Amino acid sequence: MVLDIPTISIVYFYISFVHVLIMLFVFRIIKNYPGMNCILFSCVSSSFSGFLFALKYITDYGSVLVFVSNVFFYLSMLGLNIGFSKFLDLPVAKKKLLALTILFFTGYFWFSFVYGNKSYRIIVFCLIFGIVSFLNAEILNNHTIDSVRPATRLIAAACIPYGTFYIIQALFTFYKETQNYNISTSFYFMSYFLSIASILLWNYCFIIMTVQREHADKTLAEERFRLIFETIPDTVFISEYPTGKIIDVNETYTILTGYTKEESLGKTTLDLKFWKNPGERDLFFKIIEKEGVCKNLEITILNKERKELNALISSQTTQVENSTYIISVIRDITSNKALTLKLKKSEDTFQAIMEQSPMSFILTNTSGEIEYANPTFLKLMGYELQEVLGKNPRILKSGYHNREFYHNLWSTILSGRQWSSEIVNKKKNGDLIWENIILTPILNEEGRIIQFLSTLEDISDRKRTEQELKIQARTDMLTGIMNRRSFMETAQKRLLDIKEHEHSRTAAFLMIDIDRFKTINDTFGHNMGDRAICLVTEECQKLIKGQDLLGRIGGEEFAALALDFDEAQIVRKAEILCRRIEELEFYTENQERIPLHISIGVTFFHLETDTLESLMERSDIALYQAKNAGRNRISVIY
Ligand code: GH3
Ligand code: MG
Ligand code: MG
Repeated sequence: MVLDIPTISIVYFYISFVHVLIMLFVFRIIKNYPGMNCILFSCVSSSFSGFLFALKYITDYGSVLVFVSNVFFYLSMLGLNIGFSKFLDLPVAKKKLLALTILFFTGYFWFSFVYGNKSYRIIVFCLIFGIVSFLNAEILNNHTIDSVRPATRLIAAACIPYGTFYIIQALFTFYKETQNYNISTSFYFMSYFLSIASILLWNYCFIIMTVQREHADKTLAEERFRLIFETIPDTVFISEYPTGKIIDVNETYTILTGYTKEESLGKTTLDLKFWKNPGERDLFFKIIEKEGVCKNLEITILNKERKELNALISSQTTQVENSTYIISVIRDITSNKALTLKLKKSEDTFQAIMEQSPMSFILTNTSGEIEYANPTFLKLMGYELQEVLGKNPRILKSGYHNREFYHNLWSTILSGRQWSSEIVNKKKNGDLIWENIILTPILNEEGRIIQFLSTLEDISDRKRTEQELKIQARTDMLTGIMNRRSFMETAQKRLLDIKEHEHSRTAAFLMIDIDRFKTINDTFGHNMGDRAICLVTEECQKLIKGQDLLGRIGGEEFAALALDFDEAQIVRKAEILCRRIEELEFYTENQERIPLHISIGVTFFHLETDTLESLMERSDIALYQAKNAGRNRISVIY
């Protein structure tokens, strides 16, 4: 066999093909690394390029095969660059590669079809291949993955003479073209030998590079695993599958179970009587067999002292060199469980209090939405739970209170303090209800308000009684008009208003007394006396009405304060009243007429000098005068 170019190109193809096979093998083992597929593509592409180039010597399609071969060769260089960048965690130099690609194709097009010159075409290719080789060397030198540095330096070292050779070839070709110089065939041989040598070197280095990296990564992963294994606060143990023999445990394991590492290794969880309930063990293995993983299965385990522990077990099977192992993580939730139970109990108690209390409770969130309302509240206010959930307590607003009331409420509770008051709320049917409200802001651990608790007590009955008592305290029980105290207070206020603001108003004071009332009582009985008092009251009310005040200030004695009448009108009114009483048809049960008369003392209010007391005194004197003058008449003191 002669060592000519076709032969050597076939050798090249053969070697690069073996290279592809090796790469495929490497790729199969460690394809997880980024860029591996690009590097594999590069090898295939370069091999294919060699194959096409060798083919050119035995077919008629020389120029087409050369072109396609060149393209694949260029693509293999490109693939190598991208693959190295990715493998070594470096950014792909997209812009540079794009520029070179454009240059490559336009150069080929230009020197093939526009300016047909094979030499210039070779110059362009050689320059581009040289540049890509240097770029590859740069990537292989400037990465930060220490574990592969020796191998990448070697590949980089191979790239530099390789790239230099292409640059020299470009220069030679240029020299040949311009000086008409004939390049020896040995030069082309050299180009092939260099390619073959590079491929062999790359192969070797590349395998070292990937193996080194995998080894370093595995060591790192194992160190990390050890670190996690030993420091994790959960209990971790590794057992063989399916024998269940424990092969490794961490420190927390010895604390939780009470067994030392030596006591546990080689034993199964059954040997250690680990499971309290055999059913839980069966379930655990069933899950592991079926799914390969088991997440947070709640189990009860027994430690060396046979103490029960509540735990969550999470396990996963893993395959290491034909053996299957189970890695199990156990979390002790005994105290959590006890706390949860305690919380549940206190929550139940709380719930029971809320549900059964005769008080109303509402929980509102900070957005003002009702989150809970107890049955007492719902029953009292006439709502269904669903109708109030998410609603604003504004639905209870009665309109009874002013803005200041609500302002005071909000400013108190928003400052984190409790607020309490009596409040009028509105039921669903519109009825108003008096309630005693205590509003308590509920704070979280950081002191932030998270909810408001309203405690409401129905005080409508108490309020009604209070109201009645208030009315009773101011009313004369026999006649229903103001009693002495109430009359005095009200009259006092009226007079004060006139004195302070309403100077133009006039007022007259009347003291009315039933004549010889004692005789009526004595003759016709106390009941008839009472009836007489009521009759006189009715007649008085017919004349003294509107803003005027009338009160029963003694047994059979009345007082009136009449406003805005002139003196003559008052005197006339008083006389009319006397006449009407006189004309009253008042009979006993035996139809015996009881004569009824009154005497009235009248006086007028003098803005500057008078008080209620002086008015009463004067009207009393006037009344006395009327009595003295024979009764059944009026007497006026101006
Ligand atoms: P005069 O003409 O001077 O006013 O004589 P009088 O008898 O009306 O006056 P006096 O003040 O002596 O008598 C008032 C009586 O009214 C005394 C008391 O027993 C009676 N009395 C007071 N309160 C009541 C009451 O609520 N009902 C009845 N039936 N009698 C009452
Ligand atoms: Mg009297
Ligand atoms: Mg009297």
